[in-house]
Amino acid sequence: MKILVLNAGSSSLKFHLFETDGDAIAAGSDRLLGRGMVDRVSSMKEALERAFAELRPVLGGAPVEAVGNRVVHGGDVFHSSVLVDEEVEKKIEELSALAPLHNPHNLEAIRAARQHLPHAKQVAVFDTAFHHTLPPRAYAYALPYEYMEEKKIRRYGFHGTSHRYVSWRFAQLHGKKRADYRMITCHLGNGCSICAIAGGKSVDTSMGFTPLEGLVMGTRSGDVDAGAILYLITREGKSPDEVLRILNGRSGLKGLSGVSNDMRDVIDAAESGDEHAKLALDVFCYRAAKYIGAYLAAMGGADVLIFAGGIGENSAEARARICAGLGELGIEIDPALNEAAANGDRQIGKSRVQTWVIPTNEELLIARDTWRCIHGVPHE
Ligand code: ADP
Repeated sequence: MKILVLNAGSSSLKFHLFETDGDAIAAGSDRLLGRGMVDRVSSMKEALERAFAELRPVLGGAPVEAVGNRVVHGGDVFHSSVLVDEEVEKKIEELSALAPLHNPHNLEAIRAARQHLPHAKQVAVFDTAFHHTLPPRAYAYALPYEYMEEKKIRRYGFHGTSHRYVSWRFAQLHGKKRADYRMITCHLGNGCSICAIAGGKSVDTSMGFTPLEGLVMGTRSGDVDAGAILYLITREGKSPDEVLRILNGRSGLKGLSGVSNDMRDVIDAAESGDEHAKLALDVFCYRAAKYIGAYLAAMGGADVLIFAGGIGENSAEARARICAGLGELGIEIDPALNEAAANGDRQIGKSRVQTWVIPTNEELLIARDTWRCIHGVPHE
């Protein structure tokens, strides 16, 4: 079955075309037929038209039979991937209040895809879904109870598709189930989050009510005292919109280093002696190490630590710095394995808590979920 996977952002659309079915999923022989990104588009309709123009040579007239959509916020409504119908679309629209920067674009992509491919089934795969298993102690903020009950202000977690993929992949490589291990998975890309997985389920994760909480990211701050935000608004006269832009777009590696949101540039600048870049790198790695320590406490230990995402997969430097002080906690990276020029799934530390790099593949998991939803097969 030809499945188009869509990941819609505010001004871009990433697309991947897969050929897969039950046998291919079981054998891991799913095929990526084409991929691309359309940027600076005025509408998703236009973006999809351009995507199809790019895919035409690959498709050769064959129909796209299904569309898998990344949807950022599933709230406490969606616990797994679902076939999109009117009801689902309405719920995603309602959840836009919780994710105004993301869900509207995801919804627009779903609607544009329906116009282009009226006969294709569509599936929504939520960033939050894998974290629906968080226990109340991990998802509750200590705000007045009714804010959680009535206003739905609680921690949801994001990047679920990535944490789910790499944890599944690690277990699969070992002929086991996710539930056989206590895992800490680190997705370090432009956005960054860490997840604690026990009994096969996400039991804690660093992103919260929005994808802003937790780790230092490319342009996002991660954890900041809410009092500092209020200070900016009440004492410095910043508007809420301005603060939102600062926290999401002008903070993180970019804000602290003043150099770039790209980890490669930050490391280069730090190595040439730039003090702000050194600090940015230091805060980034220290924060990640603290969360790893927190999740060891959350699970009473761990069996494996996994790195994924652009930084997690490619930056031996970042991985080494994050793990440098964790020896007493059972995490030690092997420098030779860590620095080896290698791609793909690989072990980089053989201490009590094994350390691995597992390249993530959210698009593949979205394609597989799409097939599984259409055929009523349970998700892994
Ligand atoms: P996204 O979250 O948008 O999918 P990625 O997962 O591609 O982004 O991660 C982007 C980040 O990965 C950037 O900070 C980039 O600097 C970093 N990165 C990519 N390659 C390397 C590398 N070789 N060394 C260090 N960082 C890298």
